[in-house]
Order: sequence, then C-alpha cells, then structure tokens
Amino acid sequence: LCRSRKAIVEDVPGVTRDRNYADAVWDDKHFTIVDTGGFDPGAEDKILELMREQAQLAIDEADVIILLFDGRAGLMPADEEVVAYLRRAEKPIFYVVNKIDGREQDGLSAEFYALGVETIYPISSAHGHGISDLFDDVAELLPDGVDTRDETDDSIRVAVVGKPNAGKSTFINKLLGEERLLTSDLPGTTRDSIDTELTYNGRRYVFVDTAGIRRKRSISQRLEKFSVIKAISSLEEADIVLILVDATIGATEQDEKIAGLAFERGRGCLLLINKWDLVEKDTSTAGTFAKELRDRFKFLSFAPIHFLSAKTGLRVAKTLQLIERVHEQYTRRIGTGELNRFFEEVVERKQPAMYRTKKVKIYYVTQVTTKPPTFVAKTNFPEAIHFSYERFLKNQLRERFGFEGTPIRLYFRPRGGKRTEVDD
Ligand code: GDP
Repeated sequence: LCRSRKAIVEDVPGVTRDRNYADAVWDDKHFTIVDTGGFDPGAEDKILELMREQAQLAIDEADVIILLFDGRAGLMPADEEVVAYLRRAEKPIFYVVNKIDGREQDGLSAEFYALGVETIYPISSAHGHGISDLFDDVAELLPDGVDTRDETDDSIRVAVVGKPNAGKSTFINKLLGEERLLTSDLPGTTRDSIDTELTYNGRRYVFVDTAGIRRKRSISQRLEKFSVIKAISSLEEADIVLILVDATIGATEQDEKIAGLAFERGRGCLLLINKWDLVEKDTSTAGTFAKELRDRFKFLSFAPIHFLSAKTGLRVAKTLQLIERVHEQYTRRIGTGELNRFFEEVVERKQPAMYRTKKVKIYYVTQVTTKPPTFVAKTNFPEAIHFSYERFLKNQLRERFGFEGTPIRLYFRPRGGKRTEVDD
C-alpha cells in the first residue's frame, strides 16, 4: 500500500522508517495503518498472549480492520477462530487474501469463502495486484479526518507519552498533588477516556486521556494498557506532547517512534528527562545527556529538553511554564508584512537554484494557520524548490522567529492552482 502510486505515505526524512505504523492518504482520507504483527486468538504462550493484547488494542482503536490471509498457505484451521474473534468487535472487516500474483490466480482465494464471509479481496502485496480495489473500498468506510481539537477552546491540551515505567503516572500524580493547583476530571473526547484539567497561573491545562495513567495498576496491566497505539490516540487529542524519557535507561527506539509520531502530527514537543535524581552527576552530565538526545532525535532539534524527577518533585511544576512557552510558539502568528520583509531579505541573500534556464521566484509568503505555524510561499515553480533550499528557509524562519518547541510547515504553491506540500 505504502508504495502504490495512489497512496501518499507521509514520511519525513530523519524520522525512522522502520516501524509498524504509517500515515497514509487515499482519496483524500488521512489515516494511520497499524501492523499488529499477527496473533492467535487462543494462544496460551506468554509472548503470543502479549501479541494478542497488542492486537486487541489496535482493534479497539481501529475504524476498519483488515484481516490478511496467506493465499499460498491456504485456509488454516485457526483462521475460523480469528474470524469469529474479530467479528465480536462489530467493526467493518475486510477479508484479504495475499500472495495472489495476478488476476489469473484469483481463483486460489476462493477456498476462503468457506469462512462464510461475503467478500474476499485477492491481492498481491509484492506486485500491487488488487490493492487499488481494496483501498477504494476501505477509504469509503473511513471517517473524514475531523480535528477533534476545539478551536474556540483556549485551554492547552497536553499528552504525556513514554515507555512503561518511564514515570508517567508518578509525574501526573506529583503534578496534581501540587497545592497551588486546582484540578478536576473531565470526560475525554474518545470512548471511555478521562481527561484531567488543572489551572495554573490563570491558564487551563487539560491532560488528555489520564485515566489509564493515573490509576495505579500492576506492571502487566500497565504493559497491556500502554502501547504506541495508545500514544497515537492521545497525540490526536493534544496540542503539546510531553515525551517522558527514563534517564537511567536513556532514549530508546520506542521513545523515538513516539516522538516521530508527535512530530509528524505537527504537535508541540517537550523532551522530559525523568528520574534525574537517580543519575550520578557532575557538571557535564546534563550537557552530555542532552547532546546524546539531540543526536537521537535529530528531527526534534527545536524541542526543549527538561530534566526533572517525578518522584522527588524536582522541577515538576516548572514543566507547566515550559508547556505554556511552547504553546505560545505553537499558536503564534506572524503578520504578512513582517513575514514578507523578512523573506525578501532572506531570498535576496540566497536565491533558490535555477529551474532549467529559468529563475525561480518567491512572490510572497503568508502564514495560513497555527497549531503548528504553517506558511505558504507562492512561487513560479513549486516543484523546482530543492529540499535543501526549503530547509534553509525553515532554518531562517526559526533563527528569526524562534518557534521553540513547535514544528513549522512550509508549503510551496504556484500562483493559483494546485499545491506541493512538504512537512517539517
Ligand atoms: P509509568 O509506567 O510510566 O506510569 O511509570 P510509573 O510512574 O509507574 O513509575 C515507574 C517506577 O519508576 C515507579 O517505581 C516509580 O516510583 C519510579 N519513578 C518514577 N519517576 C521517578 C523519579 O523521578 N525518580 C525515581 N527515583 N523513581 C521514579
């Protein structure tokens, strides 16, 4: 799917490609594909059981389920069980038989009708056969991507994400235990979720989807509850994402995955280094740690790094000030006049490369939206703007205006007509 011509998979250089989640667009529907890694509904083996739990989480969060069979292996006894299991979710299911390498082999998928399903989609992932038909139908059932964040609400919506045991629950509880804070529970945006609202310095903060985080659970329950899938759904609800990293372990691949998702979603980001009380320190420890993080999270070079201890309370309350600062940048608007004076000067200093024999011009720039700040530059040859030039312009924007903690986006469009998009 991700390689088919029709799908646009939103991926950004610098963000790890190797993961089981991909954002895609098909027929103007934006969606996330989650690869669950497969499962056996009756598994008693510990690892298989864990896989099933992860798959169950994905099923709970999904709008549409695709059940993929192996057409070469043929119908397996366990397939029936899987079908029965998935039907309980009462969600649309697409039954897809893979490894059917062309229309003449479609007949091979017929035996799967024995499962009592209405439609079987024969496809070949390797050759692309059938993918288009399948996703035309899938896209029809996907909801329109509605941004659930209310534009008129001036509260700052925050998601706390991080590996199990990073200290999310300790952090939230410590924050809520601060005497200066007034807190209350709110029903969340998604099914069964609870948000926590607090007021600090006259500002309302809503920590989204805190029910699972706040409730103390056994380790295995927490493992079950937390997953990258869970993190994706709380990212959707938030403006600012706090990525909690365990200082005693350092940043891990999972941290990188979650941070990458926050970045791709265009959320404001803060890197919080927790358990700082456990680290033996001298004057250079924080600097060295920060440098390693910067190397790991190259795409998050704009995100502030904040060291704290959720357990002792060290710099926990200060996090709120940082969130407010990032939110300011995240919602910041630059006037068109100021923006164009600035761009004139920058383009004067360094011109875009020629397109064939023609001069590439940038006519004017406007900020079209915030959350995150998004700019559109009108040009005669949008497709001729080189990636490195765009990077240069973004760096200049940051140098001049800051935008600490927030991604920025810059799109190039011709004067009138369709646009070319590039995400930061
Ligand atoms: P979660 O799974 O991310 O919610 O992590 P928890 O909040 O349950 O914390 C996991 C463990 O780390 C618990 O035993 C906490 O007491 C401990 N912990 C969390 N934050 C800190 C910290 O800042 N310093 C120390 N020393 N321990 C911490």
